[in-house]
Amino acid sequence: MERLKKKLNVRCSFCGQRVEPGRFFTGNGAVICYDCVRTAFYTIEGDLLAEEEEPIPDLPTPSEIKAYLDRYVVGQEEAKKVISVAVYNHYKRIYNRSKLGGVEFEKSNILLIGPSGTGKTLIARTLAKLLYVPFAIYDATPLTEAGYVGEDVENILLRLIQAADHDVERAQKGIIFLDEIDKLARKSDSPSITRDVSGEGVQQALLKIIEGTVANVPPAGGRKHPEQAYIQIDTSDILFIFGGAFEGLEEIVKRRIGKRAIGFRTEREEELSPEEERYRILRHVVPEDLIKYGMIPEFVGRVPIIVPLHPLSEEDMVKILTETYSAPVKQFKKLFELEGVELEFEEEAYRAIARRAMEMGTGARGLRSVLENLLMDVMFRLPNIAHEIEKVYVDKNLRVITVPRRRKKKAV
Ligand code: ADP
Repeated sequence: MERLKKKLNVRCSFCGQRVEPGRFFTGNGAVICYDCVRTAFYTIEGDLLAEEEEPIPDLPTPSEIKAYLDRYVVGQEEAKKVISVAVYNHYKRIYNRSKLGGVEFEKSNILLIGPSGTGKTLIARTLAKLLYVPFAIYDATPLTEAGYVGEDVENILLRLIQAADHDVERAQKGIIFLDEIDKLARKSDSPSITRDVSGEGVQQALLKIIEGTVANVPPAGGRKHPEQAYIQIDTSDILFIFGGAFEGLEEIVKRRIGKRAIGFRTEREEELSPEEERYRILRHVVPEDLIKYGMIPEFVGRVPIIVPLHPLSEEDMVKILTETYSAPVKQFKKLFELEGVELEFEEEAYRAIARRAMEMGTGARGLRSVLENLLMDVMFRLPNIAHEIEKVYVDKNLRVITVPRRRKKKAV
């Protein structure tokens, strides 16, 4: 490009304005003025800066997130919907920070309240899989003795860093599922020197990392040590999902709203199961109830989304048993297939297994153990099964599972 000095009566080929002497460039028959060069420069610089920022990934919409969860998580319609919106907002907030013009949105941390084995961990894990972000599960119970023999809260972050293959940048956008958070509740209103207080202390310690801080994480885990080189991680964009059964919380809610206001039983409605009744009460939970339960107000204040999980119905249990990706029935069928044996279930057997698992009170977790116990003896003899049909009784009502020898033509 040749720079021309002092040329009058020349117009810029881009903006059409008359150029000032000495303040333009020419090249290949075209003229460009300084103003246009400056505009081009800032435009390009802006683009380059934008490229240096986080690429905005294809963030699935709330309905896409929900549809994905539907593939893995049976039931829990309301929870899946609320969580889909919360997670969408969380990542939208992260990836559009520059467009928010300094408006800082509150983090959408989530609290899942519900009995064990109803899908809390599964929901959190499935979200992380969909969003392709690192995911760590941590049980809050060992934290309760922090400062004594318990673990430091930074270890939760270490778990996430490990899940991200030590890529701290990635870990900073991950999801942490902190289970059994109710174990940190203060047991009485008057703080005492008992172990309850340490639960409260852990809640205090958690505040900073939940809200967003640059935390120092000891690389090897365990307790902090003054000479260690720490891994620094900014927790501002980490999404926290908390889980807990919160036994007895329904009593607090019930006391607050009064029985009549709940309206969970109508004249025509049949008696609800205690679990269903509990769920309906917990749908009314508000932050004050959690504070009464023993969570500290600052903690509750940082968890704006509270979702109760539905107890699993017999139908849900049958679906989990037979239809989901990792359905126990599918797994056992495969296992038998490897031995050349076909495992068949009578339709009624599924319901019987579901009912038995429900009696165990461990949610869908019980399904696998019921099935395992049921088939244990057959599995012991599996490699030697020679006869045509073997029956296993789920209960004395003769709901049977048949295990015929695999037909030759099907054999692999
Ligand atoms: P928790 O609520 O105690 O966190 P999990 O999510 O760990 O329970 O569930 C335990 C197991 O039970 C999971 O691995 C999953 O296979 C199954 N499960 C529980 N709830 C559901 C559900 N709603 N849909 C599908 N599977 C479920």
